[in-house]
Amino acid sequence: MSKEWDLYARLIEGYDSSLSFSGINGDRIAKRLHEISKIGLTEDGGSHRVGFSQEEKQAKSLIKKWMEELDLSITEDGAGNVFGRMEGENPSLPAIVSGSHLDSVPNGGHFDGPLGVLSSLELIEAWKETGYQPTRPYEVVIFSDEEGSRFNSGLTGSRAMTGDVDMELQRSLVDSNGNSFEQVMNKIGLSEKSFTDAARNLEEIASFVEIHIEQGKKLEQQNLPVGIVSGIAGPSWLEVEFHGNAGHAGNTPMTEREDALVAAGEFISNIHDLPGQVSDSAVATVGKLHVYPNGINVIPGKVALHVDIRDIHEETRTELIQLIISEAEKASDKFGVRCTHQQTLQVTPVPIQSEIKQHLRQAMEQHSIRATELPSGAGHDALIIGRHLPTAMLFVKSKEGISHNPKEWSSLNDCVQGVHVLKSYVESIDKE
Ligand SMILES: [Zn+2]
Repeated sequence: MSKEWDLYARLIEGYDSSLSFSGINGDRIAKRLHEISKIGLTEDGGSHRVGFSQEEKQAKSLIKKWMEELDLSITEDGAGNVFGRMEGENPSLPAIVSGSHLDSVPNGGHFDGPLGVLSSLELIEAWKETGYQPTRPYEVVIFSDEEGSRFNSGLTGSRAMTGDVDMELQRSLVDSNGNSFEQVMNKIGLSEKSFTDAARNLEEIASFVEIHIEQGKKLEQQNLPVGIVSGIAGPSWLEVEFHGNAGHAGNTPMTEREDALVAAGEFISNIHDLPGQVSDSAVATVGKLHVYPNGINVIPGKVALHVDIRDIHEETRTELIQLIISEAEKASDKFGVRCTHQQTLQVTPVPIQSEIKQHLRQAMEQHSIRATELPSGAGHDALIIGRHLPTAMLFVKSKEGISHNPKEWSSLNDCVQGVHVLKSYVESIDKE
């Protein structure tokens, strides 16, 4: 392996070893990130561990080996989610659960997911080393198929655990090799039946926390290693169609046109200023557009486009959707076309409770890190769990915000500071 792709060498270079204290060991974290990176390593130095693949399974086995060395009791549910449990002084109390995923997008990075799993495991390493016994049971979780690259879905393991599954939809999924969901499950020793049985009694869990790379630039811009996630935005998709009249580009005078694309163009550029009118965390994007008939010398008779609208609060997101719809109507009136719209997806956003953010803020202060809050625009397992249980999320600084790419990078210094904050947070809620 050339040094360029030697993750351990790259991580340890420039590591400030004074950050290894209280039993948290940066060298061990770097070695483990490196070991995982070798599973599904691509020619570009990226990570290829699609959900429910042999590679994802192999990465889980590696973590299970480390869990065994820590004497954790290991269970695997019917969706392939892995839990490593350390008993607390009072084993009958609901557990604190911390973790993330090990699957990746095709040719993705080495931090998205594995950092959360390894950080959660590092807490137990630290506790064993310093003789700390938590009051509550503590579980490290590895969720299956978070990215959803196999079936163009996602958050599969966490949905199975919470029972948020539409089995009819699940059954209809087919991967790019033509394998059905049942066939894919069978190949790794699971089944549709076992998947349904994975729903867990959520009363056994007191709260969930996930640490993850930011996949954005906000922390880098503020030069902060770690940030508090204020909420996880749920996407809402709005399909808008502009109906005009197709006509000859040469023979139709400008005053007699019903050009659907001119209206759509005005609409798209006006959307840009709307999210800021409802909240700081709202965003809206038009990323998909179809023009009919799509000919060089034909006035566009119809445009169908999709708006992706997100915010961490449902009320402001609904407000934004209304503003966008009235903007579409305004643009249609101005250019004499007709518009129709329908919502095609609506995922409930999860704002983080203020009590939890207060605990996270204190954990940051303990490590002299300025506590800043930032929304998560992307979905995570915490989005699913947060609908059912008190949930916290921390972000670690990402270099240039690059993610889902072999160039994804977070420095070991930042990762280790994240583990310290996670540990202080978990210990503070454990004492409650
Ligand atoms: Zn992730």
